[in-house]
Amino acid sequence: MTEILCKTDSFARSVRATVIECVATAPDRFHVVLDRTVVYPGGGGQPADCGTVSGYPILDVRMRPDGGVEHVLQAPVAGVVDVEVNWAARLDFMQQHTAQHLMTAIATARFGWKTIAFHMNPDRSDIEFELDSVSRQDLMTLEEAVNQAVFDDLPVSISFVSREQMSSMNVRSRLLPDGLEGPFRLVGIEGIDLNTCGGTHVQSTGQIQVVKILGTEKLARGVRVFYAAGSRARRIFEQTIERESAIGAALTTGPSDFIASIEALKKSGRDLDTSLRQLSARLAGLVVERMLEDAGSGQVAVYHQDEADGDFLRQVAERFHEARPEALALLTGGASEGLFMVVGSDESVRRVGPAVAGILQGRGGGRGAIFQGRARALSLWSEAVAIIASESARST
Ligand SMILES: [Zn+2]
Repeated sequence: MTEILCKTDSFARSVRATVIECVATAPDRFHVVLDRTVVYPGGGGQPADCGTVSGYPILDVRMRPDGGVEHVLQAPVAGVVDVEVNWAARLDFMQQHTAQHLMTAIATARFGWKTIAFHMNPDRSDIEFELDSVSRQDLMTLEEAVNQAVFDDLPVSISFVSREQMSSMNVRSRLLPDGLEGPFRLVGIEGIDLNTCGGTHVQSTGQIQVVKILGTEKLARGVRVFYAAGSRARRIFEQTIERESAIGAALTTGPSDFIASIEALKKSGRDLDTSLRQLSARLAGLVVERMLEDAGSGQVAVYHQDEADGDFLRQVAERFHEARPEALALLTGGASEGLFMVVGSDESVRRVGPAVAGILQGRGGGRGAIFQGRARALSLWSEAVAIIASESARST
């Protein structure tokens, strides 16, 4: 049985203890049970603490069914040792955890919201309330009431009572396993809450410093409310300011102009798209005019542009075919490899499309007037043009 000092004194950061048991489970894994510890072994929604034993980092810590707390170390220890808890992380847990007690109690009293779960994550903590939806107004009211309780600096007390004593008290959570006789540990916040809990808490609500609600998430069974308390809230605020200043530098405006600036950028993007579409349609028109001249003078109608994409080639092909359905043409885009399209009468395209794909070492397909595909050897372009030329000569 290990005496867990943080159950009665959550501000005990270190203690001198005696090793009761040290068992090797691997060459570099030793399970160490001490007569006392300041390290919380986890439970009740609160993660286990980190810390050291004789300077060795505690790799894991857990409660055994016999009441012993097992500290997993990389080296063996014996005799008298010094146990130290990672205080910054512990204080952070205590701020989040006590803030959760406040939020749950005030949400129940003010709005009748039932807490169904809570999580102490490394970045954001959250509470799940049994609700269909929640308004921003109600969340702000809750946040304000919680921060008022922080400002009031109410004492947080720890007491141990029997099941009988507890039945006559107004305790929030009475869901205890049958047959468990206690004593039960109660955590009280003066005038606000009395609750069974095994975790660690700050000594008064003022030590929570601040509670900020960060957002919500809809769940099948309720609404999850994210929050941060204490130094963590300050850290998140600092990150937000950094991000805001980076956005300001990128947009070259202040925060009050962010939305207007982003809207203007989006509009300018849309305007550019429109201009580009119009220019591209005009260019396609000019390209088709020139191809029609070539076709009219008995030459093979071809078009090639290194930068041309599939949409542009298709636009040209369709307009060319519309103007002269019986004429064959070859369109290509890309440097050494890229795209190709053969356009003409269904019959001619069916005959030369696959042959062109073969020459350009590509593959493709298509029905009707356009056969298109990818080409791996655009360097063989003139051979493809020769096939088009002989097919044109044959069909006229
Ligand atoms: Zn608690």
